Amino acid sequence: MYNTRIFLLTIIIITFAGIHCTSSKSHSNAALASITVSSDFDSGSIDTLWESKPNFLTGYPKHWKQKSSSDDQYYWFYFKLGYTAGKSITIKLDRLAGTYRGGPHLIYTKGTQPVYSYDQKNWQRISDVQYNARHHSLTFRNAFTKDSVWIAYAHPFSYEQGLDMIHAIAGNPFLNIEVIGKSSQERDIHLLTITDPAIPDTEKKVVFIITLQHAGEYCGGYVVSGLIRFLLSDDEKAALARKTTLYKIIPMMNPDGIFHGITRFNGNFEDLNQEWDDDFTDTLHLPVEPEVACVKKWIRDWKNEGKTIDLGLDIHSQGQQGAMNLLHTPKNILADFTPFLNKYWPVEYVPVEFSGSLNDCLVKEFGIPSGTFEIPQSRIKGKAYLTINDYYQYGKGIALGITDYFRRRGVE
Ligand SMILES: [Zn+2]
Repeated sequence: MYNTRIFLLTIIIITFAGIHCTSSKSHSNAALASITVSSDFDSGSIDTLWESKPNFLTGYPKHWKQKSSSDDQYYWFYFKLGYTAGKSITIKLDRLAGTYRGGPHLIYTKGTQPVYSYDQKNWQRISDVQYNARHHSLTFRNAFTKDSVWIAYAHPFSYEQGLDMIHAIAGNPFLNIEVIGKSSQERDIHLLTITDPAIPDTEKKVVFIITLQHAGEYCGGYVVSGLIRFLLSDDEKAALARKTTLYKIIPMMNPDGIFHGITRFNGNFEDLNQEWDDDFTDTLHLPVEPEVACVKKWIRDWKNEGKTIDLGLDIHSQGQQGAMNLLHTPKNILADFTPFLNKYWPVEYVPVEFSGSLNDCLVKEFGIPSGTFEIPQSRIKGKAYLTINDYYQYGKGIALGITDYFRRRGVE
């Protein structure tokens, strides 16, 4: 009897093991499994998304409310789907409208094309997309070949990617890495210095470059990575740039926002680019955020040591709304700069001022010629959709254009 029980138990265990095995096989056959959704990872973000009918997901992105105003930012989404192999999946996102500086903010257009990846490195556009401008909804469809796929508004540049980029170049003889402060959630604010130490700094122009004040405008991470990669390369024009220029670069100005996939704001839900007009309060007279405070302190200390900054550039994105690379500055500032850039990449000079912005602060408070780049996350004037490699090339083009600009002015 006892032996029979053990025998029966063994049969039952084997049977259950068999069922379990069959069951996991059926999971790999994605057609039988429900699609799973997650965004709990670096730079991930989606409010609600569920499979409302087979292979049809519906939901909406997170709306982030600015703490000190009525602004409501919604545009970044980045999520992972599971059990997708062999399925043609439709995703419909609603509520794609928000508020920026008190006015309506509509950043999606009929040309919007999200991106997808099977490895979070190689990204492709999704071209089957419809945007409904009346209902502010985006519907897109794609057939997937693998069981895990990441989908985003545009190419993400995660916090970990930024740290990996910094660690990969550490030890380079032309590079110095400093941490000049912490974000509100204690993440490091890095300042990279790139120059040729064999040439006295007093013989060089000083260029200050910053990006990713606004999380969601992730293409800036790739532009600055391309700039850094070029400046540290063996290219003889990179060697010339290092001899003639001292670069000061902040590659991730808003690490909390980047990490949490927050559209525009930092970890305190404030817009850093509205905080530069006062050392102690923002445009709404609230205490200035720690990210801005540490950078502003660095600029003050630098100038108090009798050093100059000859050019400031802040790299942003208009999302997929824009169709051209733009350089915004207060009127008459850097009006002669874009022809030098246009030899390497297309960018138009469009003077516009933004109160409380870093650009306004550098120009008006510190007297530094400065501009803000706005780089689309879609395409330029109806041409091919931009890729990560395009952003790397833009970064290189910024460095080459800067060298030419200062050399030309030196000759005059
Ligand atoms: Zn921005």
